[in-house]
Amino acid sequence: MNFRLGKRVIDPGKYFDYNATTPICEAAREAWLLMADQHWENPSSLYREAGIARRLLEDFREELAEEIGIEDAERVVFTSGATEANNAVIQFWSHAPGKIAISAVEHPSVRAAAAGFFGPERMIEIGVDPITGIINLEEVERVVTMVEDLVGLSVMAANNETGTIQPWDVIAELCLEAGIPYHSDSAQWIGKEPGGGFADIDYFTGSAHKFGGPKGIGFLVLPENFDDCAFIGQLGGPQENGRRGGTEDLPGIAAMIAALKSQRNAPDVSDVRDLFEAALLESGEFKIVGKRGPRLANTSMIVLPHTKNLKWLTRLSDRGFGVSTGSACSAGAGNPSQVMMSMDLEFEEMSRVLRVSGGPGQGEAEWMALYDAIIGVKSELED
Ligand code: PMP
Repeated sequence: MNFRLGKRVIDPGKYFDYNATTPICEAAREAWLLMADQHWENPSSLYREAGIARRLLEDFREELAEEIGIEDAERVVFTSGATEANNAVIQFWSHAPGKIAISAVEHPSVRAAAAGFFGPERMIEIGVDPITGIINLEEVERVVTMVEDLVGLSVMAANNETGTIQPWDVIAELCLEAGIPYHSDSAQWIGKEPGGGFADIDYFTGSAHKFGGPKGIGFLVLPENFDDCAFIGQLGGPQENGRRGGTEDLPGIAAMIAALKSQRNAPDVSDVRDLFEAALLESGEFKIVGKRGPRLANTSMIVLPHTKNLKWLTRLSDRGFGVSTGSACSAGAGNPSQVMMSMDLEFEEMSRVLRVSGGPGQGEAEWMALYDAIIGVKSELED
């Protein structure tokens, strides 16, 4: 089968779109191949070899639980990724009468799910500080304590466009005190930032392809001792303790865990990202969105000095660089994303944003090569 549409493969040093997806890392690739070759049986089948697959599946559940810092592996449901996991929680919450609260900068897999399952009239949106991108904590406190029919709150851990890290630990505490279920879409946080700490969050989600694992595999963590029969993330089978139908993807699961483990040794790239930003800012012509708040170490959302972002992206692509005009999910949609609309930007500036998100293998040389390329495109466009 010839599935290659062309020979062009992006140079890993020039790939700066890690928040969209990451290349599969060596450890994940090896784990995937091993499981696909040796344990391809259906874990639900009854013969001996399938029993081994079943045991491996449960071992992997334990391993993932340990890796993300939760004690009870039964909390983990393997899913096809973060979109499915986010949708599952919000759909489940929507069965109860009442409202959902979300932040104004949620990923579409939360925002659209909330609008779809709850409807706009049952949705409360909590704004963020336009300079830092951080959610208004006073408003969070007010909503979780005062809104009587609140079913749950969903606030992401880190934003895919700006990289802004939300104070999810504080939010978890506020929700715990108020007795409100808390969901955090942690797809951009897990595997990028060191350490766990999510144990106190009732519901959270992760996605393997954001941290060097394959696409199409992720997980949802449910509250401890969760046995609500109304929760079925996907109808059609008894897998995952009856919580999600569908044959489990053992190679994908093994690869996800291998990827997560290998991220432990990833170098911190925030220094080089900061050097890159300082060089851009020195010219006085570029701006960085959300720079004053805590951000993922790999992400930089740049406001370009002139000309629509797509032109810059195309010219950078001609030079071999992969960057983004926003999140992959809204790239090409034509309108500014909800995230950009929440930040301190003029409407016109929103068509000039460029998101750069690097990976663990990119150091000063790679980031500064991108800087040089941006400056090169700038003078080209000014000619
Ligand atoms: N949430 C966030 C914050 C994301 O960045 C993404 C991926 N763009 C998703 C959810 C969806 O993840 P997946 O591709 O695994 O469905």
